[in-house]
Parts: sequence; structure tokens; C-alpha cells
Amino acid sequence: MGFPGLPDRVAEVRERIAAAARRGGHGQAVRLVAVTKTHGPEAVEAAWAAGITDVGENKVQEAVAKMDALAGAPCTTGGIRWHLIGHLQTNKAKALPRFALFHALDRDALVDAARQVAVKAGRAIEVLVQVNVSGEESKGGYAPGSIAALAARLSAMPELAVRGVMTMAPFDAEERVLRAVFAGARDCAAALRAAGLPATELSMGMSGDYEVAVEEGATLVRLGTVLFGERS
Ligand SMILES: *Cc1c(COP(=O)(O)O)cnc(C)c1O
Repeated sequence: MGFPGLPDRVAEVRERIAAAARRGGHGQAVRLVAVTKTHGPEAVEAAWAAGITDVGENKVQEAVAKMDALAGAPCTTGGIRWHLIGHLQTNKAKALPRFALFHALDRDALVDAARQVAVKAGRAIEVLVQVNVSGEESKGGYAPGSIAALAARLSAMPELAVRGVMTMAPFDAEERVLRAVFAGARDCAAALRAAGLPATELSMGMSGDYEVAVEEGATLVRLGTVLFGERS
């Protein structure tokens, strides 16, 4: 297989997550989402063989191609959960029902598009609201100050099952900044819950910052490089 050593890396990451959760004291369960973007379907199979049940992709077409390539494979028949973690164009929203969870609900036009897809599919779409806590212009997502108003609107939309928030911290930021960003995302999830939404998930933490994210309460960490190596 193309990823020798993956089971060992998964085991080490799981230990680090457990230790970080103990240090943080939030008492949450943490789910590891293996980010297979840029790798072939064999990365998904290797992850499944290593005990991973959740995989993440940031591009719809790449994700759907892998799902189709893996039709009938043990990971598919075993019920692997696909997460769409990246920016989504509204004209590609029709693929949303193929994913267990969409992490990047980041603007009003996408709220409207996802709702329409849910109506057509006859069931709710599971989503996380992406929040831009750091305020970086290069990052998508709602500003924390806009979450209360958004929450009021979303709470009247049964077509969208709002499970929590996702955020990305600035690359290579110092720990103090990381903690402020992750705590800010935690506050946004609390604001969604205050509006009656079942927003218990915090998707935060990538290869460079997942231990701090888990200390700050992450329930979903999205890890690519630390599992599969550098992307080319
Ligand atoms: C690529 C990607 C990740 C994984 O990044 P690594 O640093 O390789 O762990 C996580 N989240 C999103 C949104 C991504 O696009």
C-alpha cells in the first residue's frame, strides 16, 4: 500500500489528542477527520484500514470522484463518513447530500443554495457555520459579531441541521493567538446554541495546531499532512 506507517501515525495522533483533551479539561469527545485531498482513493482505503471512519476533502469534484471510485469497497460498504471541509460554489451545492457533514457554510448565498438542495433532497443538510475569528481577508466565514443575527435566521430553517462551527487559525501563529481564535470559535458555537440550535461541534485544528485546538475544546480535528505526509 502507498502509506506504510499510517497506522502508527494514527495511533500517535490519537494519543496526542487524548492527552490534549485531558489538559484542556473540556471533557469533549474528539473525532479525527483524515484529510485525503490531493491523494488518490487509496489514501481513503489506507485510512479505513487504519481504523479511521471520517475523511475530509476540500473540493467537491475531487471528493465525488473518490466516492465513485470506491463504490463497493470495504470503506464504502462499511459506512465511511465524508466531510466537505472547503469553500463551496453555490452551483456545486447539489452535491451536499453526499456528505455526512459540510464544514464551510460561510455566506448567505450558500445558506440559500443549501436550503434549496435540502428541500429537493427531502432531508436536512448537516452543516457547520464557518467563522472567521482572526479577521484575515484571505479567509472566508462569518465574523463573530454577525453570528447572533445569523443564528436567529438559521433557527427558523429546519432544512439546515446546524451542528456547530468550523474555523481556521492563521498559519504559524503563536500559541496565544491560536488560543484566542479557538476560544472565539467556541463562543460562536455558544451563540448558536443560545438561539436553540444543536451546535455542539467545534471543527478546529489542522496538522500544525490540533493539540492547542483540542485543549480549547475541538470536537473535530482535520488532519492531512501529519497523517499522509507533505502534499506535492
Ligand atoms: C487541507 C486542509 C486541512 C488539513 O491541513 P493539514 O495542515 O495538512 O493537516 C484542514 N482543513 C482544511 C479546510 C483544509 O483545506
